[in-house]
Amino acid sequence: MASRLLLRTAFRAATSCRVARAPALSRCMAAGGIPTDEEQATGLEKIIMKAMKEGADPYNMMKPKNYAGSKADPHLVPSITNKRIVGCVCEEDNTAVIWFWLHEGEAQRCPSCGSHYKLVPHELPH
Ligand SMILES: [Zn+2]
Repeated sequence: MASRLLLRTAFRAATSCRVARAPALSRCMAAGGIPTDEEQATGLEKIIMKAMKEGADPYNMMKPKNYAGSKADPHLVPSITNKRIVGCVCEEDNTAVIWFWLHEGEAQRCPSCGSHYKLVPHELPH
């Protein structure tokens, strides 16, 4: 008898004392969830993310495109000046790098293997 009374009292207490519960937070930030990388990025990181969305690579962070190295399809070397030092690993297993100056204008050949390189003007984004 006492247990029934105790159970009934506990049930009434549980049903009548319901306090408006705060909704459970599904994500950490209650307002809009966790901000994405693009929402958090500022400064240089934001500029890079925006450029990469547009398909540009302003800081040459991506792997360079492969070129045949022939006269018709020379390796394109970006430069902010009218010349640049280029290192050519002529064959895949070579341990020595052939360094030479590449000047603006016509495509030049590597003095060792003959691959063609062409200087292309590049402007820094800032
Ligand atoms: Zn070479």
